[in-house]
Order: sequence, then structure tokens, then C-alpha cells
Amino acid sequence: MRPFPRDFRIRAARIFVRRNSGTRTRVGFKPVGGMYISFATNSDSQRGRHMAETRKTKLLIIGSGPAGYTAGVYASRAMLDPILVQGIEPGGQLTTTTEVENWPGDTEVQGPDLMVRMEAHAKAMGTEIIGDIITDLDLSKRPFTAKGDSGTTYVADALVLATGARAKWLGLESEEKFKGFGVSACATCDGFFYRGQEIVVIGGGNTAVEEALFLTNFASKVTLIHRRDELRAEKILIDRLMKNPKIEPLWFHELTEVYGTDSPLGVEGVKVKNTKTGEITDIAAKGVFVAIGHAPANELVKDVLETHMGGYVVTKPDSTETSIPGVFAAGDLTDHKYRQAVTSAGMGCMAALEAERFLAEVGDDVDIDGAKDTSLPLGTGAQVAE
Ligand code: FAD
Ligand code: NAP
Repeated sequence: MRPFPRDFRIRAARIFVRRNSGTRTRVGFKPVGGMYISFATNSDSQRGRHMAETRKTKLLIIGSGPAGYTAGVYASRAMLDPILVQGIEPGGQLTTTTEVENWPGDTEVQGPDLMVRMEAHAKAMGTEIIGDIITDLDLSKRPFTAKGDSGTTYVADALVLATGARAKWLGLESEEKFKGFGVSACATCDGFFYRGQEIVVIGGGNTAVEEALFLTNFASKVTLIHRRDELRAEKILIDRLMKNPKIEPLWFHELTEVYGTDSPLGVEGVKVKNTKTGEITDIAAKGVFVAIGHAPANELVKDVLETHMGGYVVTKPDSTETSIPGVFAAGDLTDHKYRQAVTSAGMGCMAALEAERFLAEVGDDVDIDGAKDTSLPLGTGAQVAE
């Protein structure tokens, strides 16, 4: 069967959001008969809106992962009438996994289901949820301005940044060439296309181990290629990995090249290097799943907000305040240490409560037509050392 890869779906989703600019378009994945399929829906509440409109709000939340939706719940209950912009991945990273076993209150829940529930919760509390992608942010003065891919401009007195993290890639030319044609960073999205095939997974953290385990549902064999002989993953996952007869770990090896056919474009195998001896060997594989960690999605703010540890947005200790007053950051965007759904949700809560306090102190002014200047000096917020 011809793969219909995630990268392609993301591109398609982006075009879909664009074409439906002004409407409340949702794109994502939903469970159908044990599988997850991509979906897109339009809500009536925004039909008829036009291109290039301006939306004003006391609080704009950017991101629809656990941090964003939790911020939505708390901000709605604080009567801030928040707008939440979902981005290209409605529901965030948990939509790319299956069982989540460490979300309190659920012994086991499917990631995409959990995120659908979080969205419904935020909406029920009063958060306006919009299918759009923020492409540009002006944080030089309040109210802050955010430009949407749909053409909408969002004007907000306070901002919660909850843009999370994105999968890292190895940076190989051949990896780039076969991305979406055999190379993937999402087993849940693309694993189905490799029934009965041999697959390799690169990495040694929770994601790599979970992906390898999940892929055994489809693959005839999964080789887990790791650059060391020790996994970072949780013990319970390592235990499952070691007991799975379809998975073969390959220690002390790095991927050096993905090779395959040009017409049609498709993977046939990989070359790996022994990190101790330098010896190069071939492994036959139709699918390559790269699971070497995630980097903060900081593109919108990396040049204006203080960042550290490889781009994570710096927040004040025990707070979500960033280096710009009125701008709060929550979840994986700021968290280089825990990067869990529950910690992200916790930070989303903190960000909404702190935004509420901030607005109560400095006042809100979403009436940009009146153009009251409420700008505050930059850099008077977080004072955190690297
Ligand atoms: P994310 O979930 O990363 O969401 C970021 C959001 O920001 C997305 O909705 C995206 O569309 C949006 N966004 C980004 N840029 C823009 C933009 N320009 N404009 C608008 N919106 C934007 N954690 C657990 O606790 N348990 C698990 O079992 C678990 N399993 C995992 C399995 C996998 C495969 C992965 C990758 C992660 C897993 N995690 C798990 C980690 C967990 O998913 C993250 O810690 C959590 O999702 C982070 O939440 P977040 O809200 O910070 O951001
Ligand atoms: P991670 O914990 O940072 O692990 C990344 C892995 O990739 C490491 O084993 C690392 O090797 C390897 N790696 C990094 N760069 C590499 C490169 N250039 N070449 C080869 N290997 C490379 O990332 P993650 O597994 O994506 O997890 C991210 C966060 O999400 C973590 O906090 C994790 O706990 C969380 N998460 C949780 C769950 C869960 O709770 N069930 C599931 C998934 C993810 P080294 O070990 O040698 O550094």
C-alpha cells in the first residue's frame, strides 16, 4: 500500500486551514475502528468570518496541547474570555501516541482521546478555539499582536505561549530525501503502512521505546538503533522492550545514511556505524522512525524572549512569567527537564492564573481602536540565570 505519510498530511492540513481561513477549521486525528484517521471539521460559530479580520481578546493562548487547553480552562473560569489558537497540530504531541498510562485519573487513555476531551473541557468553560497558525508575533508593546496564517490578526492584552516541542531530526541529507517516503517521526501516524515489513527506530528515550513497541503491531521485525548501550526510557518500558521477541536492539550504532529507490521514492535500508569500531553495516528496512528527542517550538519568540538550554523559553522561578511582562510561557516550550503532559497542564494552569493577576494589576485594554498605549518596558520580567 502506498504510504500516506504524516508530513504530507501536515502539509495538507496547513493548506486546508488556509483555504478555510476565517472559518473555525479543526484538523487532527481521531480514532475510528482502532485506527487514527485525519479529520477536519468546521464549527458554525465562525462561519462567515472574512479574511484579514482583527480579533481582540484579553488573553490569547497559542497552542492546543495540555498546557494550552488547561490555560483555557482556568482563564475561562477567570472570565478572561480567552481565544486559543490551535496551530498545525490540534491537541499537540499526545495526538501522535496511543496509550497514555500516566495521566492522573486514567489508568490508560488513548492520547488523541485525551486531547479531544481537553479541548471539549476548555470549550465548555468558555474558551474560543480557533483553527489557525500564528506566523508572526509583535511583543514590542501591549496590546500584543499576533498574525494568523488565515489572515486574521489577534490583538491581546496578555499572552500564554504553549507551543510545545517538535521532533528532532538527525540532519542527514538522505533522511531529508526520504522524509514522508519511508522516513517518519511518528509511529502512530505512519506505522500502519509498514505491515509485514522490517523497520528501524533510532533513539533510546521513552519515545523511541514506545514507538518500537507500537510498531511491532505491524512490522515483522523492529531494530532499535541506539548510540549507547543504555536506554533513557522508563524502566517499565525497557522491560516491555526487552521481552518483545520482534524487537532487536542494536547498541553502539548510529545511522549514517538512508538509501532506497528514486522512482518511486522509497526506503530499502540504512547504513549504520559502530560507534566503537567505526565499522559500517547495512540493515534492510522499509521504514525508518527517528525518535531522538524533541526541541522547543520557539520560532515565534526565540529572538525576543530569553531562552536557555537549547532554546527553552526562560521563566521566572516557580512562575510562567517570561522576560516580557504580560507574556507567559507554559509546557514543553519552557521545560527542558520533565516534558510530561501533566507538568505541561500544571504550567498551563499557572500561566492562566498569573495572566489573570497581571491583568488585574496593570489593567486590560483590548480596545485597540481607542489605541490606549499600555506598553511596558521590555526585560523587566524574568531574571533567571542560565
Ligand atoms: P504540545 O503537546 O507540544 O502542543 C503544542 C501545541 O502548540 C500544538 O497544538 C501546536 O499545534 C501548537 N503550536 C505550535 N506552534 C504554533 C503556532 N505557531 N501557532 C499556533 N499554535 C502552535 N507525556 C506524558 O505525560 N505521558 C505520555 O505517555 C507521553 N507520551 C508521549 C508520546 C510521544 C510520542 C511524545 C512525542 C510525547 C509524549 N509525552 C507524554 C510528552 C507530552 O506529549 C508532552 O510533554 C506534552 O504534550 C507537552 O504539552 P504542551 O502543551 O507543552 O505542548
Ligand atoms: P529524550 O528523552 O531526549 O531521548 C532522546 C534519545 O535520542 C536519547 O536516547 C538520545 O541518546 C538519542 N539521541 C539524541 N540525539 C541523537 C542523535 N543525534 N543521534 C542518535 N541518537 C540521538 O527524548 P524523547 O524520548 O523524545 O522524550 C522527550 C520527553 O517526552 C521526555 O521527557 C520523555 O519522558 C517524554 N515522553 C514521555 C513518555 C511517557 O511518559 N510514556 C513517552 C514519550 C515521551 P542518549 O541517550 O545517548 O542521549
